[in-house]
Amino acid sequence: MRALVSRLLTHSFVDGPGNRAVIFVQGCQIACLYCHNPQTQQVCNGCGLCVAGCPGGALAPGAPGGPLAWDPAQCLGCDQCITVCPNSADPRALSYSPQDLLAWLRPLSRFVRGVTVSGGEPMLQADFLAEFFPLVHGEGLSTMIETNGLVEWAAYERILPWLDGALVDLKVWESDRHRTLTGMGNERLLENLRHLAAAGKLTEVRMPVIPGYSDTAEHVRAAAGFLAGLDPAIPVKLLRFRPHGTTGPAAGWTAPEEELMAELVDVARGAGLTTVSRSR
Ligand code: SF4
Ligand code: SF4
Repeated sequence: MRALVSRLLTHSFVDGPGNRAVIFVQGCQIACLYCHNPQTQQVCNGCGLCVAGCPGGALAPGAPGGPLAWDPAQCLGCDQCITVCPNSADPRALSYSPQDLLAWLRPLSRFVRGVTVSGGEPMLQADFLAEFFPLVHGEGLSTMIETNGLVEWAAYERILPWLDGALVDLKVWESDRHRTLTGMGNERLLENLRHLAAAGKLTEVRMPVIPGYSDTAEHVRAAAGFLAGLDPAIPVKLLRFRPHGTTGPAAGWTAPEEELMAELVDVARGAGLTTVSRSR
């Protein structure tokens, strides 16, 4: 199997426990209105609209119907291609085998605790993870995923023996609002949270505080109560929405006030969770 990857990061302290290498895969099955990396949502279809505007001459037609060919040596890193792409794609995403990514990871293994696969949505490439994660364990490193929790449970089951933990988003409690914000209801997410908690693989649940969607005490109380029912000690982090990097209407939304974030942390604790934090 091969994975389509949009970016590799050698060090991160915000993508799971300790210092971690991070692999950002290309492609997601939802399209959040507040997505901070919309260019990772789709796979380039080779339509060619971005080729003429590339100032480095780094883009050229690829195989018929497939993604463009990208020459990193010519690329100026200007992001013009992702700015003009109407398909929320990135022509610079590259395909890697498990062995390719192991070769990238090995020199880092003295400096990181493990690897986190983020996205896009990593569970859309579960067959790749089922090959890659055993190799990561062979290096003495841990494995994590950052997932929207919306892929069928059978995919998570395939990687469970080699998965050390999952960082999962619970974006909106009410399914209809979740659908408006992301394009999908949240029933499968709630079911997967139950399964991951029962398997002891739920490392952290992130709850973004989005104006008009998830910024009320009622919302946080309901979601936190559900999580506390699974395990009161699940680490939960409330993420303050930031408009920076978003496109469309979300760019005009306002970040929640500090006072509201502090109040919502108290609400989550009051609902029974013992380990609640928040972003600044
Ligand atoms: S990156 Fe977007 S605009 Fe460029 S060829 Fe691919 S789909 Fe078309
Ligand atoms: S970032 Fe995109 S548009 Fe800019 S030089 Fe590289 S390939 Fe071309």
